[in-house]
Amino acid sequence: MRAIYITHTGGPDVLTHTDIDAPTPKDNEVVVQVDIAGVNFIDVYFREGIYHSPTPFVPGFEGTGRVIYDPQGEIAEGTVVAWCDAFGSYAEQVCVPRDRMVAVPESLEPHVAASMLLQGITAHYLTHGVYDLSEGDSCLITAGAGGVGLLATQMAASAGATVYSVVSSEEKVALAYEAGATEVFFYSDNLAEDVRRRNGGVGVDVVYDGVGKATFNESLEAVRPRGTVCLFGAASGPVDPIDPQVLNTHGSIFLTRPSIGAWTAREGEFAMRAQAVTRAVTSGELNVRVGAVYPLADAAAAHRDLEARVTTGSVVLQVS
Ligand code: NDP
Repeated sequence: MRAIYITHTGGPDVLTHTDIDAPTPKDNEVVVQVDIAGVNFIDVYFREGIYHSPTPFVPGFEGTGRVIYDPQGEIAEGTVVAWCDAFGSYAEQVCVPRDRMVAVPESLEPHVAASMLLQGITAHYLTHGVYDLSEGDSCLITAGAGGVGLLATQMAASAGATVYSVVSSEEKVALAYEAGATEVFFYSDNLAEDVRRRNGGVGVDVVYDGVGKATFNESLEAVRPRGTVCLFGAASGPVDPIDPQVLNTHGSIFLTRPSIGAWTAREGEFAMRAQAVTRAVTSGELNVRVGAVYPLADAAAAHRDLEARVTTGSVVLQVS
């Protein structure tokens, strides 16, 4: 089968389009013919070796396609599914854990189905888990026009929260407002001060920071006493180690570094979040913006663009 193969970690050029053997499923897995694979920032961390996988490996975690073989005979061949948490999704075939996929409603556009789960579930657990937003709350979202950012903005706004979004270009400003942001800012050293000024002079209840190194200090400054800083990613690089005393000086704030794994680990939790996302997307309540589609062979270009901050919304690879 055709796949993107990584024999050593590094820059986008290590993403090699080649022929490899099709994977063999374990008992709890289903073999799927991949139509479209989602591209996520976590794929960059694995490609770079920041997150570790033994080499060689096929990157990618999510996508949509048709079931071709279920060793347990439960899922009919041809069933259209979407999944996340199936390592090796940048390929014509992937083995998907049977408890990490959903059936795709016929009305769902395939590019949307391919990229709704990883970012959608993340946005869901951030806004309905790490800090349960409700009417009257306020939040700050960094990379507000990215894949997770646009979805988290919509979920936060529909929960009734005031949403401050941070982005890097005029195009992204417009997208963040369209998603429901109350006020959109460019990154700056005065970010926290600007946000506080708009928020009645006080810090926000929660900061969702997926940018990391470049924004973390402003995130600490922007939160109210006893508020929550949720550092959920490192698009600009990992945050330097901190002294816990910093949490005291900012007013007894909470700091968490969550993962989608931990926030879908409880019995039924993945299904609950995945179904909530799928339902909201299908009903039109949640809009997944597919910002760019690349052929599988151009996975390196997709990574380059994601890292160059030129993409908006989600990014997908057309596999077959
Ligand atoms: P995005 O579509 O948000 O792309 C990354 C964005 O980060 C860019 O578009 C850019 O937006 C912003 N950014 C800021 N600084 C940089 C930089 N130096 N280099 C590159 N990008 C930068 O990606 P995803 O939606 O896939 O992921 C967003 C974040 O969420 C990532 O950090 C990812 O690791 C994290 N994540 C965490 C999960 C978890 O469970 N913990 C699960 C899924 C994602 P702008 O131009 O506006 O700054």
